[in-house]
Amino acid sequence: MTYETESAPLFDALAAAAEDQIVYDLPGIEARYDTLRRELPGVAVRFAMKACPVDEVLGRLALRGSGVDAASPDEVTQALRAGVPVERMHYGNTVKSDRNIADVFRLGIRDFATDSLEDVTALAEHAPGARVFCRLATTGEGALWGLSNKYGCSPADAVDVLTTARDNGLVPAGLSVHVGSQQMTADAWRGAFDRIADVLTALAERGMSLDHVNLGGGLPALGYRDKHGRPLDPPMDKIFAVIREGMERLREIEGHRLGFVVEPGRYLIADHGAIRAHVARLSARSQANGERQYWLYLSCGKFNGLYEMDQLQYRLVFPSHRGAESVPAVVAGPTCDSDDAYSHENGLVPVPKALASGDPVWVLSCGAYATSYMTQGFNGFRPLPYTWIDGGAHAS
Ligand SMILES: *Cc1c(COP(=O)(O)O)cnc(C)c1O
Repeated sequence: MTYETESAPLFDALAAAAEDQIVYDLPGIEARYDTLRRELPGVAVRFAMKACPVDEVLGRLALRGSGVDAASPDEVTQALRAGVPVERMHYGNTVKSDRNIADVFRLGIRDFATDSLEDVTALAEHAPGARVFCRLATTGEGALWGLSNKYGCSPADAVDVLTTARDNGLVPAGLSVHVGSQQMTADAWRGAFDRIADVLTALAERGMSLDHVNLGGGLPALGYRDKHGRPLDPPMDKIFAVIREGMERLREIEGHRLGFVVEPGRYLIADHGAIRAHVARLSARSQANGERQYWLYLSCGKFNGLYEMDQLQYRLVFPSHRGAESVPAVVAGPTCDSDDAYSHENGLVPVPKALASGDPVWVLSCGAYATSYMTQGFNGFRPLPYTWIDGGAHAS
């Protein structure tokens, strides 16, 4: 199978842009959603909206049947405004104050992630009768961002949490995991299914029956390069095959009637958003170590669109210098912060030697976590405006 990460309409829109901006390719995002539905038949999609909290994106995904995974009252409010039905939303944040719970319960949210007895007690009080799903901890191994120990509990704790939920008038409805963001291995999914299976078995022995398993996020973007500038190239066919096998296995565990949910974030968006930026300066300097080094400074960087640039490399296109002589450079953003640069462990990027200040640069596969991670204007560099390619909205 081939995956489309370069679309002609997106390139046309970048070429037409006279000023810096981020462009979302809505038909591209829809196509990726359709691919996911084909690969994981019958699985409900709840888009992790923090990856792209843009009304037009939320609205188009909702027309196709997607819901959202929301993490704050303001996210719920935005999703409602964008046309996502509240029945297709859940509150996926295990971290919440009493007030957060009461606010989203009032907005109509009835499904909540949890991972502790303290949180369950608060849910029983501020969202009486709600459905809860318990998040299991994962190692995050194999992912670019492992999510550390901030979320999730052990299998033994999960049994306690769901039992306590039931005893407090809540509905113990499901289990969830997140295998880590930009998860590159199928093995991580295998490990997650093992843990889920153990808990389902333990719950069935106690007479508790769940109705769903939430497989979380972690599905990777396809178009990133690593710190060395090499394509990451995730094994998508294998990952999807392992997920399908895992779901089959879980369905065979007696005592439950399971549906499945996924919460993709970057997988749906990353490859279908791109930034039109421009060159601030290409310069060469002798550094402290005495080596002469080219640096390409762009008009945008970590604080206005490329937040993850210190963990990976986005592909660059220099439309006014195609095929020109190149020099190896470190790529960096415009601010006075040293993290505002590509990670460049042996990963210099070939850039046209003749680049001049003002020349356009296209940054590809940077749609995920772009608008949501922009600062108010660090060093006075403003957040980028966004626009989108429509392609003729159609419901299906
Ligand atoms: C951020 C998040 C996601 C999406 O993660 P990706 O790695 O972008 O797919 C999904 N679920 C939860 C609970 C999250 O916090």
